[in-house]
Amino acid sequence: MNEIVPDNYDLFRQRDADQEQWLVGRPKCICCGEAIQEDSAVQIRGNYYCDRCLDDMRVYIED
Ligand SMILES: [Zn+2]
Repeated sequence: MNEIVPDNYDLFRQRDADQEQWLVGRPKCICCGEAIQEDSAVQIRGNYYCDRCLDDMRVYIED
């Protein structure tokens, strides 16, 4: 058997690259620039907003 088996480091690197590739395809939050990793996001006039930024934007309005 002369098969080359990738060691754990190679597997880790491959997973890392896959993750990066996946992130590149994700929409980016217009506010913080982070890739949105959730299944859904808020889109306003073509711009995406991540949940974290939305939380920051929510204000409490007192009567
Ligand atoms: Zn954000």
